[in-house]
Amino acid sequence: MYDIIIIGGGPAAVAVGVYAARKKMKTAFVADQIGGQSIVSDGIENWIGEINIAGPILAKKLKDHIENYKDEIEMRFPARADKIEKNEDGTFSVFIGEEKLKTKTIVVCTGGRHRKLGVLGEEKFNGRGVVYCATCDAPFFKEKDVVVVGGGNSGLEAVVDLLKYADKIYLIARNGKLRGDSVTQEEIIDNEKVEIIYHSEVQEVLGDKMVEGVKIKNLDGDEKLIDVQGVFVEIGSVPNSEIVGELVDLDEWGNIKIDFKNQATSCEGVFAAGDVTDTIFRQNNIAVGDGIKALLSAYDFMKKN
Ligand SMILES: Cc1cc2nc3c(=O)[nH]c(=O)nc-3n(C[C@H](O)[C@H](O)[C@H](O)COP(=O)(O)OP(=O)(O)OC[C@H]3O[C@@H](n4cnc5c(N)ncnc54)[C@H](O)[C@@H]3O)c2cc1C
Repeated sequence: MYDIIIIGGGPAAVAVGVYAARKKMKTAFVADQIGGQSIVSDGIENWIGEINIAGPILAKKLKDHIENYKDEIEMRFPARADKIEKNEDGTFSVFIGEEKLKTKTIVVCTGGRHRKLGVLGEEKFNGRGVVYCATCDAPFFKEKDVVVVGGGNSGLEAVVDLLKYADKIYLIARNGKLRGDSVTQEEIIDNEKVEIIYHSEVQEVLGDKMVEGVKIKNLDGDEKLIDVQGVFVEIGSVPNSEIVGELVDLDEWGNIKIDFKNQATSCEGVFAAGDVTDTIFRQNNIAVGDGIKALLSAYDFMKKN
């Protein structure tokens, strides 16, 4: 019987793990990857204490920090937790495939993943012109024409990444204005390589073996074909909350609802932190702070029960 099982491997989970070890809780740390979403970033400039740190270096530091406690924590890495169940005695079971781990408390730190367009051709051309990470994939589109879908910060940042490589960038925004940072907007809005198409959505990704174009539709219902070799999907993220099933309350987007004071979910003994929750801000430092709150709350819960 563990005191706590931590599920996830991003900054939130690592923070929970470090604090759990220091509280001498009997801990299992179940992660399929350590480092979290910003592992792909070229440079993170708001990780407090570092002026600029590359994503892979931050990931390595997080991994080193949690592995420093490998004698205190049972590391299940790489491993994927598939399901959580509540037992009749109030404890929980976490399933890793066929294996069942029992625990008094759980902190869910499973983060998020890219939201997909859900249009015809997206799956067929996934990795063959349809991509979800501009930081990772922009260099493959040297001298190509591309579409970036999404008028928020990630869409704008994708355009900035692509300016170094692509010949022409169409930015497709659903609304009549962009939502991203004004500084980034200024960087792209008058650039002759960039054409912003407002009030429009991608209907279909077209091609034979690789992407050759997209069909877009505007508010009036007018359709148009654009010849491109790349489609960068930057329309936000989806929480990895499937693992909790119906055990805890979720909001309409699938984020785990938490009490902001202590990261408690609707199920006593289950806490959550980071991007998987209905937090308003999704950032590395916030995930860490929320993780620590979750651990301290789980510790209190364990002592009282
Ligand atoms: C490209 C990019 C750049 C970013 N840049 C910045 C930045 O500069 N500054 C900043 O503050 N924030 C940045 N962010 C946001 C930041 O990365 C997130 O807010 C942060 O990673 C959230 O941390 P987390 O621990 O909640 O979840 P995540 O980082 O999403 O980590 C979740 C982890 O859990 C693992 N996992 C999921 N399900 C399971 C399961 N069932 N079993 C086991 N393991 C599982 C995943 O593999 C992953 O390792 C960026 C995000 C992206 C995508």
